[in-house]
Amino acid sequence: MPASSRRIRIVFACVILGFHGTTAAAQKTPRPPGNADPRIAEALKQVSSARIQANVEKLVSFQTRSTLSAQDATSIAAGRGIGAAREWIKSEFQKYSQDCGGCLQVKIDSFTESPSDRIPQPTEITNVYAMLQGTDPESAKRIILVTGHYDSRNSDTLNAAGAAPGANDDGSGTAVSLECARVLSRLKFPATIIFLTVAGEEQGLNGSKHFAQMAKTAGWNIVAVLNNDIVGGDRNPQQSASVVRVFSEGVPIAASDADLRLIRNLGGESDSASRELARYVAEVDSSYDIGVTPMLVFRLDRYLRGSDHISFNQQGYAAVRFTEYREDYHHQHQDVRTENGIEYGDLPKFVNFDYVAGVARLNAATLASLASAPAPPAKVHLLTKELQNDSTLTWEPSSRASAYEVLWRDTTSSDWEHVQAVGNVTKITLPISKDNVIFAVRAVDNESHRSLPAIPVPER
Ligand SMILES: [Zn+2]
Repeated sequence: MPASSRRIRIVFACVILGFHGTTAAAQKTPRPPGNADPRIAEALKQVSSARIQANVEKLVSFQTRSTLSAQDATSIAAGRGIGAAREWIKSEFQKYSQDCGGCLQVKIDSFTESPSDRIPQPTEITNVYAMLQGTDPESAKRIILVTGHYDSRNSDTLNAAGAAPGANDDGSGTAVSLECARVLSRLKFPATIIFLTVAGEEQGLNGSKHFAQMAKTAGWNIVAVLNNDIVGGDRNPQQSASVVRVFSEGVPIAASDADLRLIRNLGGESDSASRELARYVAEVDSSYDIGVTPMLVFRLDRYLRGSDHISFNQQGYAAVRFTEYREDYHHQHQDVRTENGIEYGDLPKFVNFDYVAGVARLNAATLASLASAPAPPAKVHLLTKELQNDSTLTWEPSSRASAYEVLWRDTTSSDWEHVQAVGNVTKITLPISKDNVIFAVRAVDNESHRSLPAIPVPER
């Protein structure tokens, strides 16, 4: 594992009277038991690499899933093209729903995209999704979403008919959404989960853009988006089969001028909602038997590359991207062929299905943890009226929370270093200077489910 992927674990600090500030020498202790929910742990055991393999091979069987490929009734009946892939994904979600007494609402989001660089003629693009409605009326308005793109491409983005197997890019991510739906639909959660598969990614993120805009217009409160794109763990010699990269934006794409002023003044460059989500993923990983470790990358995406999480970031939603540790560019966006002894093409034989299962467990554990947790406390304020070295935080109670925790870290640290349980209160004064650390507050329910942390805003 690369040194950069070693993550600082949260220290449950014993804060005693007179304790001042944080120290680099603070003792790091393993996470105490109790963070793992046995119900979630049991669901993770149901994730099947054989299932994932069968689903990726089924997606590849459509020969091409180019967004520009056929979607007429004849092609669908023949099992060829993106239309056939779409119908199959829909039928899979419906099957899972039948197995849980109709617990999933299976829907499509379909629209006609106007011509552009990579779309020569008006093209129907269809996103397919399944919604597991939350059981608590208030919490159900909070939505946690997992997505992958089911469209594929070969060397030419405009090639609508040639083979484009797309096993890794992004059959793997599509299989993660499907497998999460299969195993989590057997459980009930207070908040809502959406299992999404989008098209049009390779033509310019068209499907996810439409979906994110639709969600924004409808006022959906999506609190976390997990985008899986190229999570196949390509079997190249430099691959790490135990590490998955998690990319997250720092300064939000959707930040307003006022947001940017606050970020500049307070050093908030590494505390976007997406970054907190990435840290949450890492914390979840350490609580369960997952099989892969996230390596957080503090960057929107790889150089010159993008993916569907960006569509959600643009609408102001917290969204991160999962990608395998090391990509093999011979195996993505390539026509299937052999040249000078090198095999090109995105074929199932290069995919490590045990690895994809690990990524699916990490996604499922994060979805289930967030969907079980109370909402983060609202209106978290750091009082700055008077000049003083103590720090006073206030917040509004969160429904279903039975307690709160204050997190903090040095301004130079990449991850939370200290957690203090403060009980069921909405105000706390800590003997730590706000000028030296970054604070956050999170809500905890009586089964130890933790919310995403909320960063305080200064109150004058
Ligand atoms: Zn992709």
